[in-house]
Amino acid sequence: MEDCLFCKIVKGEVPSTKVYEDDEILAFKDVNPMAPVHILVVPKKHYNDITEITEENADIIKKIILAINKIAKEQGIADKGYRIINNCKEEAGQTVKHLHFHLLGGKKLGDKMC
Ligand code: AMP
Ligand code: ZN
Repeated sequence: MEDCLFCKIVKGEVPSTKVYEDDEILAFKDVNPMAPVHILVVPKKHYNDITEITEENADIIKKIILAINKIAKEQGIADKGYRIINNCKEEAGQTVKHLHFHLLGGKKLGDKMC
């Protein structure tokens, strides 16, 4: 998608600090971290939000979760614990309209987002 920030990050047109990449997924550090570890995990293919996930394309979610678990191990937060957040649309606070999952950890997280 042309005017999408995360598509631009996927294409390398906007810089990011990558922590994981495969054919279908990119993970990079959140520019405004809410925890010592705050990573965004995105499908390279553009989906506006999780409502676009269907029986046909849901395999990407499985792959994202497996990538998140791998990243959590690499980041050293797998044992103590971590939080995965997906904000879907405006009332949930989604600001970037490209499906993404926040991986948060590295401290005792509160009962809000982090
Ligand atoms: P959300 O509010 O769920 O849509 O999350 C969007 C996230 O993207 C926020 O946590 C922002 O800090 C983060 N963000 C915005 N621009 C960038 C960027 N250029 N690189 C990395 N993270 C970004
Ligand atoms: Zn996009």
